[in-house]
Amino acid sequence: MAKNHNHEHEHNHSAECCCGHNHEHNGDSCSCGHDHAHEELNKKEFAGKVISAGLLLIIGYILNELTENGVLNVPSFVYLLCFGISYLIVGFDIIKETVEGIIHGDVFNENFLMGIASIGAFCVGEYTEGCTVMLLFTIGEFLQSLAVQKSRKSIKDMLELKPESVTVLRNSKEICVKPEDVKVGELLIVKPGEKLDLDGKITEGSAEVDMKALTGESIPVSKSEGDTVLAGSVVADGALTIEVIKEYKDSTVSRILDMIEDAEDNKSKTEQSITRFARIYTPIVCLVALLIILVPPLFFGGEWSDWIYRGLSALVVSCPCAIVISIPLAFFGGIGACSKQGVLVKGSNFLESLAKADTAVFDKTGTVTSGKFEYVSCECHNCKCSDNQHRELLGIIAACERFSTHPLAKSINLAFGHYSDSLDVKDAKNYSGMGVSAIVDGVKYYVGNEKLMALAGVDYTPTELIGTAVYCCSDTDFMGDIVFADIIKQDSRDTIFELKAQGMDYTVMLTGDRKEIADDIASKAGIVTAHSKLLPDEKVNKVKELQQQGRTVLYIGDGINDAPVLAQADVGVAMGGIGSDAAIEASDMVIMGDSLSKIPLARRIAKKTMRIEHENIIFSLAVKLIILVGCAVGIFDENAMWLAVFGDVGVCLIATANALRTLRVNKKS
Ligand code: ADP
Ligand code: MG
Repeated sequence: MAKNHNHEHEHNHSAECCCGHNHEHNGDSCSCGHDHAHEELNKKEFAGKVISAGLLLIIGYILNELTENGVLNVPSFVYLLCFGISYLIVGFDIIKETVEGIIHGDVFNENFLMGIASIGAFCVGEYTEGCTVMLLFTIGEFLQSLAVQKSRKSIKDMLELKPESVTVLRNSKEICVKPEDVKVGELLIVKPGEKLDLDGKITEGSAEVDMKALTGESIPVSKSEGDTVLAGSVVADGALTIEVIKEYKDSTVSRILDMIEDAEDNKSKTEQSITRFARIYTPIVCLVALLIILVPPLFFGGEWSDWIYRGLSALVVSCPCAIVISIPLAFFGGIGACSKQGVLVKGSNFLESLAKADTAVFDKTGTVTSGKFEYVSCECHNCKCSDNQHRELLGIIAACERFSTHPLAKSINLAFGHYSDSLDVKDAKNYSGMGVSAIVDGVKYYVGNEKLMALAGVDYTPTELIGTAVYCCSDTDFMGDIVFADIIKQDSRDTIFELKAQGMDYTVMLTGDRKEIADDIASKAGIVTAHSKLLPDEKVNKVKELQQQGRTVLYIGDGINDAPVLAQADVGVAMGGIGSDAAIEASDMVIMGDSLSKIPLARRIAKKTMRIEHENIIFSLAVKLIILVGCAVGIFDENAMWLAVFGDVGVCLIATANALRTLRVNKKS
């Protein structure tokens, strides 16, 4: 799995584009998702070219016709000049690229096909066709890149994440600066209705904050002094003063944008095979065209000029750009549609696997359950507390958990953190899937599940209560336990039901928690199988086992101590990734909020993307094949070149338009 985050994609795209060709002429944009300001499509220049070439073509055509019909007697060089200049106006760049391609060893590409076909048409005296092929090809390419560029821009705008300027307080003056120029620690002023452009902490004011751009869910959250707010959120009401905690380049927003751009590097199998396909396809087509030209005249007494014309038409129709351009575009649209719903996909390969996945594996805590634990009871051994509230034990446990990011630790600190305020914590250590240890006021304690107690080698009394138990011991003595209840998320059951309806026939829950709890939660959520008491590496093995059975595994976790499983699964999805760096790094997809129902939604988008892809491949190849065969057997005689131009330019535009459908999301299936 490619999890590289290299940022070496800095605009070397003019050399190699999605389609593997040079696209430097008239500022063709490539479908790589970057703004090519310097390559802005130059509409005026383009219109000038097309109009002048078109006029010359028409003049040449009229003069030629009139002379052939004996109405006028224009010397042939006059209309030849018209055709020639018209051809050069639009075709020069393409011919230049063909020649450059040949020099660089990249012979067989669409420019080559078009160049050969049009020059060939000239050679057999079909000047009008030769010029028209070039003209239409140029127009088609232009329209296409316009569509590609527009859609890419609209995907980015849709995310509404790109900031322009922010208001900072410098020397008690409010000034507008670029977000890139703001340093950590500076104060930002955000007014009602404005969007936040940097991550920060509220120092003054309170407001309802809408994080729709990040999570895809428009539920305002109340934030006040001391709370952290993330770039990309919109302040609905109230003005805020915010202390910047991260530079722009490290902010959540710019990481998300980076991720979407990096998505281009993780190409799907479909895309990869298309590139390979184009590499063998084009030479084969050239060979077929050559056979069409040579065989009938040599062996069956055909007319040379007829068969050359047919062979050249075959070349024109065979141009693979419909597929080469529409496939990456469809994937980009699918990824964009997911982003809009608050689901970040790190590459089209993951979108492809998501559509294919037949097994959903869930982590329990924070994924199927809310991860917000509710306190059930506390039992104290060697209890010295007088008031029966076990403040001392609760304080020690909270102190040990102070630095842990586990949902249990967070809940413990939320409930009992104040008991540990005066305690000094040193050497905090994390035992993945078991718990933590720390030195509290000079004494070493272990806080965690049965496995950790066994590791510490201390006799403990298992609790009989139902719930997630957290035991505490020192190196020598068992101290007691707290029991928590974790509640199943509201949308877990619906999500699992919907995934089943989508054909995910097998669902599994993996947890480090006890069996009774695992079984209870699994049956409530409608999950088929539950495996309990697993350490992180045992979770990896479970996923491997499923993969060995030939299943494509989708793993959904919270990114906390399950990074290895996220990496092992075919698609690793981290929930609640918002603001959590570890989860964003380790996963293939990130669900920004904590709503599980985003998974079936993303899967629907993935499936639709794949469907559109297949439609485009089949449609383009079918039309091309029919026209190609028609040329080969000679049924299209007069119209061959015109049909061929449709088969290339027309099909390409239709496929592009179809690919753009991926952008639209149906919320209901
Ligand atoms: P899950 O598989 O449910 O996500 P984890 O693998 O994160 O759970 O943890 C497994 C078990 O390890 C938890 O049920 C808990 O008993 C214990 N555990 C993990 N981290 C901690 C912690 N910080 N404090 C106490 N117990 C912990
Ligand atoms: Mg977990």
